[in-house]
Amino acid sequence: MLVLKFGGTSVGNTQAIAQTAEIIKHTRELDDQVVIVTSAMSGVTNTLIQAAYAAADGDEQPYREARSDLLLKHQLVAGQLIEDGVERAAYGRLIDERLRSFERLCHSIYVLGELTARGLDVVSGMGERMSAPLLAAVLRAYGVDSDYVNAGELIVTDNNFGNASPLLEPTCEQTSARLRPLLEQGKVVVVTGFVAATTDGVATTLGRGGSDYSAAILGSCLGADEVQIWTDVDGVLTADPRIVPNAKTLPELTYTEAAELAYFGARVLHPKTILPAIEASIPIRVANTFNAAGPTTLVVPKLSNGHSVKAITAIRDLTLVNVEGRGMIGVPGIAARTFQAVADVGANVLMISQSSSEQSICFSIPQHDAEQVIETLRGVFSDELDRHFIDRVRAQHNIVIIAVVGAGMRGTPGISGRIFSALGEAKINVIALAQGSSEVNISLVVDDEDADEAVRRIHDAFFNDEDPRSKIQS
Ligand code: ADP
Ligand code: ASP
Ligand code: MG
Repeated sequence: MLVLKFGGTSVGNTQAIAQTAEIIKHTRELDDQVVIVTSAMSGVTNTLIQAAYAAADGDEQPYREARSDLLLKHQLVAGQLIEDGVERAAYGRLIDERLRSFERLCHSIYVLGELTARGLDVVSGMGERMSAPLLAAVLRAYGVDSDYVNAGELIVTDNNFGNASPLLEPTCEQTSARLRPLLEQGKVVVVTGFVAATTDGVATTLGRGGSDYSAAILGSCLGADEVQIWTDVDGVLTADPRIVPNAKTLPELTYTEAAELAYFGARVLHPKTILPAIEASIPIRVANTFNAAGPTTLVVPKLSNGHSVKAITAIRDLTLVNVEGRGMIGVPGIAARTFQAVADVGANVLMISQSSSEQSICFSIPQHDAEQVIETLRGVFSDELDRHFIDRVRAQHNIVIIAVVGAGMRGTPGISGRIFSALGEAKINVIALAQGSSEVNISLVVDDEDADEAVRRIHDAFFNDEDPRSKIQS
């Protein structure tokens, strides 16, 4: 059994959906049990979310426009790829009904002047609930027996709206009960990515980019032989090809490396995707919808031989927080209280950088949590600040963490040296540095305006074939 997930660009327009349908048709000829997970058409989730926010701000125009734009966008594909009039009309009714309910919902948000996290999840998941039935209908037009299922019937989560966590037991129960009979009938099931529901059936979402995670969850529940992530690049590359055009496909990665890469900004995989795959030991393959015969990446438990550095990633829109003061020396519990305060705000700490002198604690968090974290810390340490045990709690915005990832870095000397000389030659200032205890990752903090150049310079130092130093890798 195979689970194939198609991202936004893979279902972004008529041509892409036609290509996707060909890939699915071919896969179905090779394997008799195939589950498809699809994202919304590219750009749709953003449009829906922006319209909902605008409605809450008293602006009705964006959701009105979104309704007609989205109708057109989906109907255009249906018109071009679904020949059967009855099928086309059925999809027409479905999309019309969905967009009406979108408009009603946005109208209530407008009237109330308030957008709750719960309401936002209903709106943001609508893109998948329009693209998945479309893809199923297109597949039938391609002669593939196919049914559409809303993942709200399969994936059960907690009620952490916007970033819900699956409850695996009920999820696997429902997934098996609902999907196995369809698969046994030989149907290709097309499931909405990204969306889920609480035990009470309230709509939730798994976080932006979460369709990859949906695929891994379903794959692990069904014991799939492979989960395939079909996207718009040739697998996982040595760096984001948008920043480093000559980045190369990595034929294989370990789960740990892939998790680390995803966590540190390689958007090609949602960071949580690896977890269910590890638990069920299912390999994940990343492939390019627009170059189906091209190179792919296979993510597996262990590799027989590994290059030391695998890839360079960047994670943006971060703030570096510094808690500084000479009075901190020898005072127990400052770090514990700092991180307790950060946890209370619910901010995710991406990197902690220590200085051995104990004069400062420095960590990075998403920029959107910064204000609240700083305020909370100043409150928690108000006594220490008054008495100058702590001199200041300081924030530096617009910083980027660059991560150099690779399992084989363990025990390979000189990696850090090469990173720093590459940055030194380019006169790029490294603001902070951290190495995880796993040694799968060396991360450093640079200013946003230096980030792209830093990624390119480090990439060159390790992967440029003309650079004799990079030969040490192979
Ligand atoms: P999808 O819509 O298919 O889920 P995403 O846009 O979420 O696709 O992810 C694919 C994008 O990830 C690529 O277009 C690429 O720009 C970006 N990316 C970032 N880092 C990497 C990397 N190391 N390898 C491949 N792609 C990467
Ligand atoms: N459509 C959702 C998003 O844009 C989920 C996904 O594409 O994976 O975040
Ligand atoms: Mg994605």
